[in-house]
This record gives sequence, C-alpha cells and structure tokens, in this order.
Amino acid sequence: MRNISNRNSTTTRAPRHRLRWDLRVSIVVLVIVGAASAESGPETDPITLTILVHNYSQASRAVIMAAEREAGRILGEAGVQAVWLECKVDRSTADTQELCRKPVEATDIQLRILSAPIRNQYRDTVFGFVVNPVLASVFYDYVVRLAKEDDTQFELPIVLGCVIAHEIGHLLLGADSHSGSGLMQRQWRRESVRKAMTGALLFSAEESEVIRAEARRRMRVPKASLSEHGY
Ligand SMILES: [Zn+2]
Repeated sequence: MRNISNRNSTTTRAPRHRLRWDLRVSIVVLVIVGAASAESGPETDPITLTILVHNYSQASRAVIMAAEREAGRILGEAGVQAVWLECKVDRSTADTQELCRKPVEATDIQLRILSAPIRNQYRDTVFGFVVNPVLASVFYDYVVRLAKEDDTQFELPIVLGCVIAHEIGHLLLGADSHSGSGLMQRQWRRESVRKAMTGALLFSAEESEVIRAEARRRMRVPKASLSEHGY
C-alpha cells in the first residue's frame, strides 16, 4: 500500500513540477520574443536592393546567372541582399519580366552588361562606369580578357560577378570610392583574379558599413519623392 501511495504521490506531484517548469519556459520565451520584437524595425529589417539586368553583350545567360550569384554573394557578405531581374534589351525577345517595367524605386539599380567601352564622359575605370544614383555598366570584353589567361569557362562568371559588385559598389559608396586593395581597387591583376577565385575579393568592413547605410537610406526614400531625390 505504501508503495502504491508513494507512486500516487509521485504521479500527482510530477504534473505540478512540469507546470512550474512550463511556466518558467513560457516566461523566458515571452521575454525573448519581447526583446526580439523591440529590436525589430527599419534598422534590423533585411537590406534589399533590386538589380535590373540588361545584357547587351555576348555573355550567355548561364554566365550572367553565375555572375549574379557571385555578385550577390559578395553583396551578401557586405550585408545587402540582392534580387536579380533579367530584363529584355530588344523587342525581338520575349519579355519574361513584367517587373522590369514596374515604377522605379530608390532601391532599384539598373545594370547594363556592355560588350566594349562606349564613348561617354562617365568612364572612370576599365571595368565599366556608373551614372549616379542608379545606373551601373560593366564591360564584358574586359572581363573576357582578364579571365582568358587561365580557365575562361571557370573564371569568367566569377570575375564578371566581381566586376558587377565593384560597379554597384561605386553607386553605393559614392565618389572617389576606389581603394588600394580588395574589390574596390582601380585595376586588377592576376593576383586579384586569384583572390576572386577563392571568394576573397570582397568589400572591406568600412566599405560594407557605408554600403549598408546607403542601402538603408534608399529603403527609406518615399516613392512619391523619387524625382525630388534624383532617382
Ligand atoms: Zn572602379
């Protein structure tokens, strides 16, 4: 009988323990959730930019897509998420992206992939050029020349991705944004390509901070005031 009684007392106490434990867990969960929601807001929202891609070069779709993945990874390392949209460049191709015709937003970047440099007053680098605040152009032929010394098929999309990230970097970092080393170097040599191939050609920590701040600023621009801000 004593055994039974003990068993009974054990079985009646256990739920109370569990109840107290559950209550403690619930309080901890509530505190954590409360803290998380207190921290949410514009400063902690994901930083996202939309890149509208216009390919005027001979680059294949596979190369462009692989380059987008690499540029997206580099921007991701800097804390910015890129959404890529392929846009048609002439009327003969089917427009699969209705979104390319959506009204412009401050977080949009127009990316043109050109074959070779064209005559213009904006050219400041061998990779391409930008027209602030939203237009970045890269030269595919330059990337082909830079990559062809070794394994073109392997290197081309990676180097193109780095060049795309470099020009988008110019748009977000502002004037005089070349650096002595890393992704924002004015000119790249084989050492830079080797670094690119290991995934180490990136924005610096300081550049990443400026990029995040500028992207956040663009996210706050109201749509109605885009023309006032020069977008
Ligand atoms: Zn540059």
